[in-house]
Amino acid sequence: MEKVKLTGLSADEIYGLIEPGGFTREHALKISNSLYKKGVSDLSIIPGVSRHLKEYLQERSEPGICEPLSSSSSADGSVKFLFSGRPNIKFETVFIPEEERKTVCVSTQSGCRMGCSFCATGKYGFHGDLGAGEIVNQVIVCQRISPITHVVFMGMGEPLDNTDNVLKACELLTAEWGMAISPRNITVSTVGITPAIVRFLEQSPCNLVVSLYSPFASERAKMVPAEKKYPVREIIRIMAGFPLKKKRRLSIAYMMLKGINDTEQHLEEIRKILSGTGIRVNLLPYHRLPGDEHSSSEPGLMDHFRQELMNSGISASVRRSRGADISAACGLLASGLSPESDI
Ligand code: SF4
Repeated sequence: MEKVKLTGLSADEIYGLIEPGGFTREHALKISNSLYKKGVSDLSIIPGVSRHLKEYLQERSEPGICEPLSSSSSADGSVKFLFSGRPNIKFETVFIPEEERKTVCVSTQSGCRMGCSFCATGKYGFHGDLGAGEIVNQVIVCQRISPITHVVFMGMGEPLDNTDNVLKACELLTAEWGMAISPRNITVSTVGITPAIVRFLEQSPCNLVVSLYSPFASERAKMVPAEKKYPVREIIRIMAGFPLKKKRRLSIAYMMLKGINDTEQHLEEIRKILSGTGIRVNLLPYHRLPGDEHSSSEPGLMDHFRQELMNSGISASVRRSRGADISAACGLLASGLSPESDI
């Protein structure tokens, strides 16, 4: 009998596994708390449950914790992990410490099929979706370094091209019986798949950020092929009209490329499409890919964009770069991977 992997199961699903043995929902909660909050990777040491239950569990299941194959540390304290729990499925995760805030940037797919230019993951190709357990496992492993306060779905893959598993992972991360991280501290980042955005907004209390790249449709379509099918203006209209629960944050990420999307015309158009929507803007530096001659906009120009957007009543911030020396910064994940290489 193939054993069930517990990481990735909800408390109710764990209960469904042990109920035939006469065990209770309380027992299931003890198991899920040990798995998700303490990262227990040995079922024989789950605290507060009988030996009978431990044996029952061990016969039918395994923790399902996947250990990283390797890790590299940045001078700024960020740590990048490489995972591969299945053949041909490689993915990377970044732990980012910033004073009190400890963030994990998780991957949702091995590679990506969206094909955006300026993204190493897109160039790596698509190798498969990650299950909810594989997504949450990345946070469980990083939790060994320090308690995790924030999770961003900004690693490899388009999260809303794997919506079922991302919604389930958000549940496991936020549930009291799971990792109990506040939904306010969890952000899912997408280039925009309209039906999946509507579903995410309806079914998850977590934050959402849409990558804009350019406010002009034809220019954006060259950078983000998804624009042709799912125009971002329609997505912004949906986000702006969505009744917001208090404190949930909807944002636009705008990666700034020198001489490409950082002109006054771009600034004016961003202002035009976002004014009055309540949607915030995160301005991001560009991280150059190997062999690429493009570069990031100057910090002074990024500050000018931020100030002008703020003057128009649009909340805006500039995000500083983290982990670039280990290719862990935005858009760089998978830049050191080869689909064919053995690991
Ligand atoms: S930017 Fe995001 S959606 Fe686009 S190719 Fe990269 S990982 Fe995929």
